[in-house]
Amino acid sequence: MPSDKLQVIFIGPPGSGKGTQGTFLHEEYGVCHLATGDMLRAAVKAGTDVGKQAKAVMERGELVSDDIMINLIKENIGSDNCKGGFILDGFPRTLPQAEKLDEMLTARNSSIDQALEFKVEDSLLVRRITGRWIHQPSGRSYHTEFAPPKVPGKDDVTGEDLIQRADDNEETLKKRLVAYHSQTAPVLEYYKKQDKLTTLPAHLSPDKVYATIKGCFNKIRN
Ligand code: AMP
Repeated sequence: MPSDKLQVIFIGPPGSGKGTQGTFLHEEYGVCHLATGDMLRAAVKAGTDVGKQAKAVMERGELVSDDIMINLIKENIGSDNCKGGFILDGFPRTLPQAEKLDEMLTARNSSIDQALEFKVEDSLLVRRITGRWIHQPSGRSYHTEFAPPKVPGKDDVTGEDLIQRADDNEETLKKRLVAYHSQTAPVLEYYKKQDKLTTLPAHLSPDKVYATIKGCFNKIRN
C-alpha cells in the first residue's frame, strides 16, 4: 500500500484508459475500484430500479442524474471493500457530484488525496472505443488491435464471452465527448483550485501511464 488509505479520483474521456489503470491498481494495491459505468451496467443487466432509469440515458451517451450517482457512491464508499482506500473511476462527472463527494468525505474526517486527469486528444479515442471489447463481470477490457484477447471474443482469465458496449460506437461517442467537455471539464478546475490535480499523458501505452501513476502515489505517500 502506498499509504494506509489511498483515495484517488480518475477523470478522463471515454477510452482514455481509466478502467485499465483501475484494474492494475486494484490488483497491486488492493484498493477498491469503483467504476460507476460498470456499476450502472450491472444494474441495467439486473433490471433494478436504478438500471431501468439509467438504461436509455446511457444509450444516448448522456449523463445519469446526480442524485442516482451520489446515492450509488454513498452506498459503496463506506463498504468493507473500500476500507483500504478507493479509486473512483468515472465519478464525479459534474460539479454537484464533486461537491457532494467532498461533503461525504468531510463527514468522515477524510478527503481526496489526488485527482488524476487522463488527458488524450479526442481524435485518438474513436479507434480506441470502436475496437473495445469487455468482460462484463470483471470489467476487464480488450481491444481488437491494441490488446487482443488470447482467443478472439473470449476473456483470457475465465474464457467467458466478451461483449461490445451498446454506447461504444462512433455516434454515441461524439455525444459522450460533448458531455465530457461541457459537464466534466469544470470538475478538473475544481480539483486544480484545491491543488489536487495531476495530469497524465494518457495517449501513451498502459505500462507508461501506470508508471506515471505510481510515481504520483509515491509523492502522495512521502
Ligand atoms: P463509463 O463506463 O464511465 O464510460 O460510463 C458509461 C455511462 O454511464 C456514461 O456515458 C453515463 O451515461 C453513465 N455514467 C457513469 N458514471 C456517471 C456519473 N458519475 N454521472 C453521470 N452518469 C454517469
